[in-house]
Amino acid sequence: MKLEIDKPENAVLEKLTSNVRGITLKSSAELHQMRLAGQVVSAVIEVLIESIKPGIKAKDLDYIAAMEIERLGAKPSFKGYRGFPATICVSFNEEIVHGIPGERIVSDGDVLSLDVGAIVGGYHSDSAVTVAVGGVDPVVSDLIEATRLSLEEGISKAIVGGRIGDVSSAVQNFAESRGYGVVREYVGHGIGKALHEEPSVPNFGDSGKGLLLRSGMVIAVEPMLNMGSWRTRVLEDDWTVVTEDGSLSAHFEHTIAITDEGPEVLTRRNNECIGESG
Ligand code: MG
Ligand code: MG
Repeated sequence: MKLEIDKPENAVLEKLTSNVRGITLKSSAELHQMRLAGQVVSAVIEVLIESIKPGIKAKDLDYIAAMEIERLGAKPSFKGYRGFPATICVSFNEEIVHGIPGERIVSDGDVLSLDVGAIVGGYHSDSAVTVAVGGVDPVVSDLIEATRLSLEEGISKAIVGGRIGDVSSAVQNFAESRGYGVVREYVGHGIGKALHEEPSVPNFGDSGKGLLLRSGMVIAVEPMLNMGSWRTRVLEDDWTVVTEDGSLSAHFEHTIAITDEGPEVLTRRNNECIGESG
């Protein structure tokens, strides 16, 4: 989600410290729908990961996702959202987020970020993964792994009685401890009947600050980590966000319900690695 501001850090700080309207607490019936939407999203991402291979076009991945979402009885969250023309986002290499899947052919060594959202019973879930195609340099797999782990750090702080800043700072501290740039202008978000709801969930901030987390809140946490600077720019298609310095970027996202039993990841995939991988 794009922050509609000039100086992201100032505006986020203001939002974090003020009372935020528009927070929705989900009932168990609503959470049930979001859980179903999350299962669709995770299943689609599994199919996409299996489908990625050198020679496939980005638009083929989009078609596969569209067919799979339909087959599972859901609707895509992104198609038509503010005019977005595709079912999923496919972002290559220095592209951070919001890449429009088109004719570009996937090659060995590419780093692909896939972002998928689905609607079931009027409720959205949203998730993203980054995968390396074929063999890549260890510095590339380290970036991808660190982004995945920074998301897990954030998820672990999505607990009743915590604060948004706890999630934000957990992501930032982990990412920066490994030397990566943490994107500022694009942030996570509340999610439910709308794809993007309050509150904003930045990937940077101070622990102990910001909105109090309550049972029934659902948030999408989505760290975007750059090999170089955190600065971004948008391409002429008005969608694709790239690193300003052309460095590689990775993006992971999960939709998480904050419950009395702890964080429930609604978009968790079967066999997903959630700790340090070997
Ligand atoms: Mg997403
Ligand atoms: Mg999102």
